[in-house]
Amino acid sequence: MVINAIQKELCFSCGACFSKCPSGAISMVEDEQGFLSPKVDYEKCTKCGLCVKSCPVYKTKRDDLTPIKDAYSVKSQHSSRCASGGAFTQLAGYYLNNGGYIAGAVWNKEFIPEIIVTNNCDDLLKIQSSKYVHASTGSSYKKTLELLELNKKVLYSATPCQIAGLYAFLGKDYDNLCTVEILCHAGGSPKAWKKYIEFANKKYNKKLADCKMQAAKDKVTLYFDDGEQIVESLYSENEYVELYMSGKTKKSSCTNCPFMGRIRNADFIIGDVWAKWAKQKRKDGISLLILNSDKSKKIFKEIKWDFVEPFDLDSEENAPLNKINNVIPIQNKDRVSVFEKLKENCDFEEIIANKKVALMNFNYPRDNYGALLLAYAIEQTVKKMGYEPYTINYYKNPMTMDFDPQGATWKFREKYLNLYGFYIDKNSLYKLNDVFKTFIFGSDVIWKQTREYVYFADWCTGLNRLIAYAASFSNKKMPRKDYYKKFCMRRFDKVSVREKSAIEICKQYAGIDAEQVIDPTLLLNKEDYQRIIDNEYSQIPQGDYVVYYTFWGINPYDIKLKLPIYNLFKDEFNKTRSFGQWLNLLKNSKCVITASFHGVCFALLYNKPFVYVRKPDEDNERIVSLFEKFGIKENCIVDSVEEITEDLAFRHIDWESINNKILEFRNYSLNWLKSALEMPLTYKKSNANATHHKFNFMGVKINIKKRIKNR
Ligand SMILES: Cc1cc2nc3c(=O)[nH]c(=O)nc-3n(C[C@H](O)[C@H](O)[C@H](O)COP(=O)(O)OP(=O)(O)OC[C@H]3O[C@@H](n4cnc5c(N)ncnc54)[C@H](O)[C@@H]3O)c2cc1C
Repeated sequence: MVINAIQKELCFSCGACFSKCPSGAISMVEDEQGFLSPKVDYEKCTKCGLCVKSCPVYKTKRDDLTPIKDAYSVKSQHSSRCASGGAFTQLAGYYLNNGGYIAGAVWNKEFIPEIIVTNNCDDLLKIQSSKYVHASTGSSYKKTLELLELNKKVLYSATPCQIAGLYAFLGKDYDNLCTVEILCHAGGSPKAWKKYIEFANKKYNKKLADCKMQAAKDKVTLYFDDGEQIVESLYSENEYVELYMSGKTKKSSCTNCPFMGRIRNADFIIGDVWAKWAKQKRKDGISLLILNSDKSKKIFKEIKWDFVEPFDLDSEENAPLNKINNVIPIQNKDRVSVFEKLKENCDFEEIIANKKVALMNFNYPRDNYGALLLAYAIEQTVKKMGYEPYTINYYKNPMTMDFDPQGATWKFREKYLNLYGFYIDKNSLYKLNDVFKTFIFGSDVIWKQTREYVYFADWCTGLNRLIAYAASFSNKKMPRKDYYKKFCMRRFDKVSVREKSAIEICKQYAGIDAEQVIDPTLLLNKEDYQRIIDNEYSQIPQGDYVVYYTFWGINPYDIKLKLPIYNLFKDEFNKTRSFGQWLNLLKNSKCVITASFHGVCFALLYNKPFVYVRKPDEDNERIVSLFEKFGIKENCIVDSVEEITEDLAFRHIDWESINNKILEFRNYSLNWLKSALEMPLTYKKSNANATHHKFNFMGVKINIKKRIKNR
């Protein structure tokens, strides 16, 4: 058997077979995902079988291993340059000072990590810090063997699969070899990394020369050829790390890593200490150091650590945060799509972007035909533009809502909306940042004074595209001062509003430029809604009739019109109408009496004369703004249904003119949305919560200052 018999999905790309092959028949070649895979030249192959014997797939663990238990949290005095607490650097220093060699990952000439073996102190600086890219072992196995045979001491550090590969290659342990295994959760695709380098060069308009990734310090430092350094937050700003950390570029063999758990191959195991106490003790990170052999225990005693404390691997606080116990890392759903894009040689921007669009509006399972048809309309519009829209299934306090799984609203949501998940609190919404890069907030009164921050996108973090479509403040009043809200609004990449007055509010309140766009229900034409009518049984009354649709106490008996009047909400048996019935009844009526903004929108869409009944104390800004846009006279706004006369209800309306204006505004709004969806992604800092407190604090501070001044 030769190594090609191994399924590619299982291969760890450790290169043990390549290093072992006596006839040079195996080369490591880059596969379409960018990982190195063995390729056999059958002309040269002598079928000796050494490649298979040295493959860690067949022997993942060394003999006689016992579960790890001796662990310490440590810190080196050189840790500021290191990935976490500098455990490796301290061990490496010990070896170099004692005439030994060290092996670790450096960026090679192609800017890909490669494990080198060295006794040069300067190389240690290059080994320091993490490189979240699968490293090549290059010639390090062979060189280590040579040095070991010459009785030189070697400290070899690598990922667990590469350590398994080393032992499989060597075929035995050596007294003068000490191995260090890094707690690793995945190897990132070198091809994705190369694409990132091109992206970073373009983004900063200079050439990337070096990169330091320091997870415990939440830092990625980019070094450019002109000497400039740019520091980004590792967890929220660096595009490559974001892609890597979400598991989208991991190697397929990492999804079933056999090296996780308590039985480990290496003498030392190092990782980060993620528990809260560590952060409090040393802000820039503490290393976890596990001693897994007598060799490591002896060396550990001889080293002088800057900080050292026993570490309880099983304590509730420590255990879940490190990847020691996890056996199978989670497979990311989007991994396949990322690798498909890599195969097609797409640019990094395209790799990180996806066609998924998250829509956030009021799609609650509550009998609100307007809000749900709006959710339907924006979904359909985004879909027609070639995207994959999902309506986020979020509603706070579901217990306070009337759920009726047999009801019209529930059925409509299930049948016509592409609902995503089920979220009842903001914390769970953060997970959506891993799935979506584009978020559309709106329409409806999402920016009303009392609305929660969830609708201001404060949970949307990382590299994304934030769009507010036809957001409404409900009325003309400037919202109360709220620095956090202002901060959130300014994070949007593009903002559009429903009412004209909202343009001024956005400018004055948050200093942002907004444009007025059409309500989503009018982005579709009447044919687009016909599918809902056709799909449902809906009987309409014979002869002419009037309909009414309102959320507040209008008594239909007070409407003094000759034609029969039907309630759009409920039928004669007091049963909520289906959405098909609602639309069909409105479509075939002679007049619509409504106190709902969307009642008016659908009357306009179906060219039905309508009368708007204003709520007492209502600032009817949304209706006035709509009328102004379509040139509709305000005389069809009444304060009570008693004011509705036959002349008013059945007045002549110039529908041709209104339809032309709707069409024009619809096309303008579609173009606005299209360009918003094509905008580049931008960073949204993840410290929104911290900023919240800061801004609130600032608010308090300002108030105090004002009070002092007033005195
Ligand atoms: C791909 C990867 C995934 C990781 N995942 C986790 C995790 O899930 N949980 C956790 O606690 N820690 C993880 N770590 C380890 C951690 O972040 C630190 O790198 C480690 O604790 C060493 O810290 P240090 O301060 O001692 O390192 P330093 O003294 O800065 O030395 C860096 C060490 O990392 C090695 N290294 C860097 N990049 C690579 C690479 N691509 N391949 C092989 N070795 C490399 C170097 O050879 C060296 O040994 C991961 C590291 C990497 C590289």
